[in-house]
Amino acid sequence: MPQVIVIGNGPAGVSASIYLKRANIDVLNISMNGSSLLKAKIENYYGYVDVDGKKLYENGIKQLNDLAVSTINGFVQKIEYLDNGKLRIFVSDKEYETDYLVLALGSPLKINSKYKDYLGRGVSICAHCDAPLYRGKEINVTGSEPYLSDMIKELSLYSDNICRIKEDDIQRLEGEFSLERIVYNDGTIKNINNLFLAIPVSGNRLYYELGLMVDDNGYIDVDEKYRSTIKNIYAVGDMISGIHQISSAVYSGMIAALDIVKGVRKSA
Ligand SMILES: Cc1cc2nc3c(=O)[nH]c(=O)nc-3n(C[C@H](O)[C@H](O)[C@H](O)COP(=O)(O)OP(=O)(O)OC[C@H]3O[C@@H](n4cnc5c(N)ncnc54)[C@H](O)[C@@H]3O)c2cc1C
Repeated sequence: MPQVIVIGNGPAGVSASIYLKRANIDVLNISMNGSSLLKAKIENYYGYVDVDGKKLYENGIKQLNDLAVSTINGFVQKIEYLDNGKLRIFVSDKEYETDYLVLALGSPLKINSKYKDYLGRGVSICAHCDAPLYRGKEINVTGSEPYLSDMIKELSLYSDNICRIKEDDIQRLEGEFSLERIVYNDGTIKNINNLFLAIPVSGNRLYYELGLMVDDNGYIDVDEKYRSTIKNIYAVGDMISGIHQISSAVYSGMIAALDIVKGVRKSA
């Protein structure tokens, strides 16, 4: 079992993995391919003149390989906090356990502002977390394919009464404290107390399921060592609020890694 799992191989995840590995920590990096860097042409990173983001990303992965960091290429679908304090990470059909987790998943998916105010108050992005609350009752769902079919399949485990709402028809949601109704573009109103959003399974969903605290923009709350609100889970890079640049991603990865090294050594 690796002592630390880092998810993400952009600048934040690679930086954390490098500092952990060089401190002789058994680290596993799990990442799918892709990074904000792939879209970037970098002109402001120290020591590099006019460097292509793709090249920088590839260099980062090479650095991991050169240092013999264990890596797995895959999409993390679920993270569980276990009773014994360990964390279980689900990747395709495999599971990995660890003591510490560094989340370096990049920018959180933006949730449409018309739903944001009711997230966790009737609006949900996680069928298996929240659908049991509406067992046997009407469950409303909106979104687009291919996510919609998957979500409907999951919701159908809890109710036969699934109401699919066309996203383009929704003008706004209303309710005093929690979701009470949908106002459609044609002016009609439907009273509802739940609405499931079928959106890509993203970092958002992973940390929503875990119960991590996030701010209004979906950025994970962390302290000065990049510790999240859940013990032994760190969040670094573009997942947290602040300046989103390579330098800040690399910095946060390093600080989180050094804090973990300290923790591991203390408990040894
Ligand atoms: C167009 C553009 C131009 C930019 N230009 C600059 C610039 O000039 N200078 C600068 O400093 N910064 C620039 N940036 C910002 C910079 O690219 C980011 O700040 C930086 O890449 C953030 O690093 P990160 O490691 O936090 O996230 P990312 O680099 O986005 O990496 C996220 C990682 O998480 C992985 N991941 C996500 N979800 C999962 C999952 N469920 N399972 C497994 N892996 C997952 C991804 O595959 C990826 O490996 C630019 C960004 C963009 C979009």
